[in-house]
Amino acid sequence: MNNRLIYVCMLLAGMFSINVCVSDRVVAGEKGHPHHHDHGKKKHISHNHGKKKHNSHEHGKKRQLDSHEHGVSVLKIASEKNMIEMELESPADDIVGFEHAPENVQQREKISKAIAVFKDKAGLFFPNVEAQCKITKNSAEFEADAGSGHAGFHVKWHLSCANLSKIQVLSTSFFKIFPKAKEIEVEVVSDAGQREIEWDSDQNKIKLKLTR
Ligand SMILES: [Zn+2]
Repeated sequence: MNNRLIYVCMLLAGMFSINVCVSDRVVAGEKGHPHHHDHGKKKHISHNHGKKKHNSHEHGKKRQLDSHEHGVSVLKIASEKNMIEMELESPADDIVGFEHAPENVQQREKISKAIAVFKDKAGLFFPNVEAQCKITKNSAEFEADAGSGHAGFHVKWHLSCANLSKIQVLSTSFFKIFPKAKEIEVEVVSDAGQREIEWDSDQNKIKLKLTR
C-alpha cells in the first residue's frame, strides 16, 4: 500500500507542492510508525532534483530508474522452501554520488568499489546466524539511463538456509557503507504472507519472519 501512496505523493509533490506530500506521509506514518515523521520530510525534499522523473514512467524497461527516489532503495525478499531471493534497487546517487555513465577513472573506481561491496561473499543483508543461510548466487550491476538522467544499482542474492523458520531478524551494514541512503522499502513475500517494511537508516536490523 505504501508504494501506491508514495507514488501518488510524488505526483502531488511534483504538481503542487512538497507540503502536500509531507502531510500525506505523516498520516501514513501515524498508522504504524509514529516515529518516522522527520525522515519523511527529508526524503521528499529530494524530489526537486527529479522533475523529469514524473513524466517518464512510460519507458517500460527503465521504469525503476525513472521512478526511483533518491535516498530510498527497494529490497524485495521472496522465500520458498529453504531458499531466499533478495533483490535490491538503489539510486546510484545514494551509492556513488552521481547518476550517469562513468566519465573518468575516479567514477569508474567508485562503481567497481560499490559492485565489490554488493558482491562481497559475506553478503550485505544478514539473517540471524541460527537460520544458517549461505549465499549461493549473487549478481550486481550498474545501469545508467541517459534519457531520464538517472542511474542505479541492481543487486541480487540467492540464499539457501538450513533453518528458514529460525529467521527472526535481518541486519545490514548498507546504511553505514552508503550514508546517503536514508531508507529501504522492504517488500516481503513468503509463507508468512506479504509484508512491507520501512527500514530507516537509524536501524541496523529489522524483524523478519518467513514461515508461519
Ligand atoms: Zn535518480
